[in-house]
Amino acid sequence: MTDTIIIGGGAAGCFAAVHAARYGKSVLLFEKNERLGRKLRITGKGRCNVTNNSPAEEHMRNIPVNPRFMYSSFAGFDAECTMRFFEELGVPLKTERGNRVFPVSDKADDIADALGREMKALGVEVINRRVTRILTENGAVCGVSAGGTEYCSQSVLIACGGRSYPATGSTGDGYTLARALGHTVTELKPSLVPLTSPDKYCAEMMGLSLRNVTLNLMDGNKCIYSELGEMLFTHFGVSGPLVLSASSHIRDMQPDRYRLLIDLKPALSHEQLDARIQRDFSENLNRDFQNGIRKLLPAKLIPVAVKLSGIAPERKINGITKEERRKFGELIKAFPVRISGFRPIDEAIITSGGISTKEIDPGTMESKIVSGLYFAGEVIDVDAYTGGFNLQIAFSTAYTAALNM
Ligand SMILES: Cc1cc2nc3c(=O)[nH]c(=O)nc-3n(C[C@H](O)[C@H](O)[C@H](O)COP(=O)(O)OP(=O)(O)OC[C@H]3O[C@@H](n4cnc5c(N)ncnc54)[C@H](O)[C@@H]3O)c2cc1C
Repeated sequence: MTDTIIIGGGAAGCFAAVHAARYGKSVLLFEKNERLGRKLRITGKGRCNVTNNSPAEEHMRNIPVNPRFMYSSFAGFDAECTMRFFEELGVPLKTERGNRVFPVSDKADDIADALGREMKALGVEVINRRVTRILTENGAVCGVSAGGTEYCSQSVLIACGGRSYPATGSTGDGYTLARALGHTVTELKPSLVPLTSPDKYCAEMMGLSLRNVTLNLMDGNKCIYSELGEMLFTHFGVSGPLVLSASSHIRDMQPDRYRLLIDLKPALSHEQLDARIQRDFSENLNRDFQNGIRKLLPAKLIPVAVKLSGIAPERKINGITKEERRKFGELIKAFPVRISGFRPIDEAIITSGGISTKEIDPGTMESKIVSGLYFAGEVIDVDAYTGGFNLQIAFSTAYTAALNM
């Protein structure tokens, strides 16, 4: 008989294992992969944006769905606690732009390995098997079944992650295990995911990466997200950091509802851009329009921008009217890309949706349906924007569960 069984050796599971063991509990952790923390090791492009160095209120502001559920967990274990925890484990951290916290080494492996070492030092037993069932007796958990063997325990933590990036092990088992015990799973949707576009010109610009542009996400005529940064055109539409962040602001995807307006020259006002175009035009008065704007835009973008401008590519620059030039400037300040959908959940950074927060006690992370059953991490219906907020959700909920198990 073990005190605590944890299902999943990802960010939340390992974190909970360390804390439960520090509270003197015997811990058995099941991880179906050979290695612990496979997803954790690829976070932040292999650098792991481990948390956001900001107060709990800022974390709540970055959680679009069910932020209040996190209130108690953040009060018990916030970003400062996370930073202290990893530094005490010998992983020095640094804070970058937007309060994003990374290991000084820029290696996500250092975070995952530190957790693994601490688990070992505390005597956490790891079994590399897939849990297929949670056992209950009289409405309370009494163990799990894995690989045909039953393991007994008074408490079980589901920390199986979501359904995105399934190659890392998060294939949605947590939802199946919880559903079998009567829990509700809200609709699962991709979040922080590339976007598809019906505009064929995206594919024509495939591989083109734009830096220092401002991406505006429009819901009808209302701008619901605007940020400066980097994005990319692909064969299906758009991707890159700005697009992933914008995607998590789309709550009700419908064809023709959302579109992007890309400001290709955010450092210039409309007037400054017009002056710049005039200068380029005056140096190329006898050239074709398509050749006279080479300094202004990346090569792959020129044929598309020319087409959208309505000015014939072979028109001589000296014949272009002031009104046409002004409109061309407007196009550069608001380059349109229509959005038709999300890429599949497999390609999403985060699974939005999950175990209904109505059925979990936010102060303990215990199930309101089955006694002794706990939840932590992405399996719960809480998700956040980019910036280290998602891992903090995993750590805070894991700490709360460990404390109460
Ligand atoms: C490419 C990428 C980059 C990211 N970068 C960041 C970042 O920089 N900062 C940030 O805050 N967030 C980031 N995230 C999100 C973050 O990784 C997740 O929110 C976090 O890993 C969730 O932790 P978790 O423990 O709940 O789930 P996971 O880390 O997915 O762990 C779940 C574990 O459970 C195991 N498991 C599942 N089912 C079973 C079973 N039946 N039996 C045994 N084991 C099982 C899985 O194998 C897996 O190891 C990123 C995500 C991706 C995909």
